[in-house]
Amino acid sequence: MNEVLIVGSVALDSIETPAGTVDNALGGAATYGSIAASLFAPVHLVGVVGEDFPTQHIEFLKGRNIDLTGLQIVPGGATFRWKGDYIKDLNIAQTHETQLGVFEHFEPVLPRPYKKAEFVFLANINPELQARTLEQVEKPRFVLCDTMNLWINIARESVIKIFGRVDMAVLNDGEARMLTDESNLLRAARAVQKMGPKYVVIKKGEHGSLLLAGEQMFAAPAYPLEEVVDPTGAGDSFAGALMGYLAQTNDVSLENIKRAIVTGSVVASSTVQDFSTKSLSALTNEEVERRFERVRQISAF
Ligand code: AMP
Repeated sequence: MNEVLIVGSVALDSIETPAGTVDNALGGAATYGSIAASLFAPVHLVGVVGEDFPTQHIEFLKGRNIDLTGLQIVPGGATFRWKGDYIKDLNIAQTHETQLGVFEHFEPVLPRPYKKAEFVFLANINPELQARTLEQVEKPRFVLCDTMNLWINIARESVIKIFGRVDMAVLNDGEARMLTDESNLLRAARAVQKMGPKYVVIKKGEHGSLLLAGEQMFAAPAYPLEEVVDPTGAGDSFAGALMGYLAQTNDVSLENIKRAIVTGSVVASSTVQDFSTKSLSALTNEEVERRFERVRQISAF
């Protein structure tokens, strides 16, 4: 069975959306990515938290076939905290505060079994740390890299560099425009392709996503929802599920990547139906299959 190696933030999030608020709830890109991937394959998580990270979260993640040998717990350290809202626009998070805490001095160290992983998800984190994680993987077969506006703003060259070393880059529409200075989304995606990744996925929130693979293109609709409670983690669970699906099916052909993308968007559709990781954690494989079929029906002609 193929494992998925995931590096990224493990966080405590404080979020406000039109549906309400949560404080210090379980979050982080690697957290959402790991829970989503674990629906399909075992996960090796690389990250860091402080001693203030609740034990119940550790127990929950372990119970989901997520190996935490690579999660450092820093004595006396403070867990990464992110505070944001989606009041103006449900598709765009407004960051109020980012407290790096233990991430400031984090050095990813891969336990030996992790180095053999073939499927690698570089979730949102400083791109230098993504690179230092990837360097330790012996023979990566499929590497997906995510990022965010903060890193495009403050570490643009490092983002471009890591994109040059991965198979798939995933960005939302705003990030793609910001990274490339192209306002037309297709031109922006083409410009990201030129940075090196074989596959570029542009996420467009409720409007689905667009895959570019060489000259080929694939448009995946989002699963239709009438109410979004909390969009946090949609992108991370999209990418985590995509990677879990590729690892489980052991197939990185373009046709299978298309199915992985639809699986990713179906899993993300569940994430946004409640705050934090609540709805994603309750998602079953049967429900994933049901939503997958629904997407097939609404998009076939
Ligand atoms: P998204 O899938 O884009 O909604 O990702 C949301 C998650 O990203 C939240 O759970 C945050 O904890 C995490 N996050 C926010 N800012 C950063 C950052 N600068 N680096 C890493 N993770 C972050």
